[in-house]
Amino acid sequence: MIYVYACIVVVVAGIILGLALGLADKYLKIEEDPRKDDITALLPGANCGACGYPGCSGLAEAMVEGKSTKASDCKVIKGDKQKALQDYLDNMKK
Ligand code: SF4
Repeated sequence: MIYVYACIVVVVAGIILGLALGLADKYLKIEEDPRKDDITALLPGANCGACGYPGCSGLAEAMVEGKSTKASDCKVIKGDKQKALQDYLDNMKK
């Protein structure tokens, strides 16, 4: 009988924790600037750290915050992709 109680306790605890996580996700979510995702998508995704940030999303965040304004701050991106990123950054300022 003790095994049945243990199973009930585990199931009830799982349901309560699941609901708590669901509510926390809904009400405590921090909205991110969608431009960060746009810029991250334009970056190469190598996450090499050569730009001085801990990955492409770090540089994207710096670009959104205005700490970095040049596509050339990414040491990997070249050519058309660099131009596309610079155009996006220039349009962001407007
Ligand atoms: S240098 Fe470019 S590819 Fe490397 S982490 Fe920075 S943004 Fe990503």
